[in-house]
Amino acid sequence: MKQSILFPKTRKEAPKDAESVNHKLLVRAGFIDQLMAGSWTLLPLGWRVVSKINNIIKEEMDAIGGQEMLMPLLHPKEIWNETGRWDKADEVMYKLKDKRKKEFVLSFTHEEIVMDLIRKNITSYKDLPISIYHFSTKFRNELRAKSGILRGREFMMKDLYSAHTSEEDLMEYYEKVKKAYSKIFRRLGFNSETGYVFKVTKASGGVFTDKYTHEFQVLSEAGEDTIYWKNDEDEAINEEILEGNKDDYKMAKSIEVGNIFPLGTWYAERMKIYFTDEDGKKKPLWFGSYGIGSTRVMGTWVEVSHDEKGIIWNKEISPFDVHLIELTGGKAKEVYEKLTYTGVDVLWDDRNIPAGEKFADCDLIGIPVRLVVSEKTKGKIEFKMRNSKDIELLSLDEVINKLK
Ligand code: ATP
Ligand code: MG
Repeated sequence: MKQSILFPKTRKEAPKDAESVNHKLLVRAGFIDQLMAGSWTLLPLGWRVVSKINNIIKEEMDAIGGQEMLMPLLHPKEIWNETGRWDKADEVMYKLKDKRKKEFVLSFTHEEIVMDLIRKNITSYKDLPISIYHFSTKFRNELRAKSGILRGREFMMKDLYSAHTSEEDLMEYYEKVKKAYSKIFRRLGFNSETGYVFKVTKASGGVFTDKYTHEFQVLSEAGEDTIYWKNDEDEAINEEILEGNKDDYKMAKSIEVGNIFPLGTWYAERMKIYFTDEDGKKKPLWFGSYGIGSTRVMGTWVEVSHDEKGIIWNKEISPFDVHLIELTGGKAKEVYEKLTYTGVDVLWDDRNIPAGEKFADCDLIGIPVRLVVSEKTKGKIEFKMRNSKDIELLSLDEVINKLK
């Protein structure tokens, strides 16, 4: 894509009210735009990143048998009343009435809606298990909408739901999802190679279950949460279930990027969802739900991976593979066409502006590979990684090999 047509242009200054790094950098670099507190447009660059994040999530959901669909965002009061959450979750809900005074809520999650869907479509153990998911907007009346795109009042989530005939079957699937989530976050760049890591973190089950739930927490000073773990342990625990002496633990600030819940039969009992088992008896359905906030993931990556010049994407979620900078006397067109032909996604800075501005934008946007062609490179190409100072002079074929 030619940068001359990319919407919008980058900005020199961050918005005055921006406090967090992700807010400042993502707005300056043209990834997101704020409509009002907690409400964001994903601009072309930002939508590219979130789409890549969603694709990785989708691949791993499909790999564990998840079936993608799409559910409505406008929900009737009656269904939310069945579990009592119409009142209990009042604080986070955006409620509204239509002209006939009928009451609705904008989706803040989908458990009740999925359970209603399942109720209408199953009767026997033969119809189970079920694993369904979707990507959609969630609306939450967040009072603390100040951490940039980390905490929106409207944000994108992938939510998966599973239904089972027994606790054993639910817990077996729960462990599968837990593994799939770890794989997703490693693929998204949170791993020992980058040094930006996450920890699977035990949290309490709340009112739903006597079991634990698990949060996926990326270590970051920008986080609102604090997690604790013992030296040799992989899993951490969160503040609510911390027991004993804090001094016995390592601790760190962290950002929650995912959360999985073995909800048990709490929903089935309240919504009266039973199936006929092999023994002919009616039994309540076992239920689990599993969320990842894909817009929060984008913001989290920026919080952990940036420098004073801008964002530093990893290649899995970068909006483009390569940023091609054309300077006076350089012949970029052939490079652009050949790279594109070999399947490399190129942002080509074809603008007629000073070199310094191009380099500044390139560092701000943060695509992992920078290529420069100019009079000085004499038919060759300067190759530089965003996270390194080293520059190599290569032929086009060498560049293509290196990118593979
Ligand atoms: P938090 O504790 O941060 O308020 P939560 O526990 O309420 O989040 P869940 O209901 O578990 O969040 O939602 C699943 C995922 O959705 C979270 O792990 C997070 O990645 C994302 N998420 C939740 N709330 C927001 C928000 N306001 N803005 C952006 N992403 C969010
Ligand atoms: Mg949570």
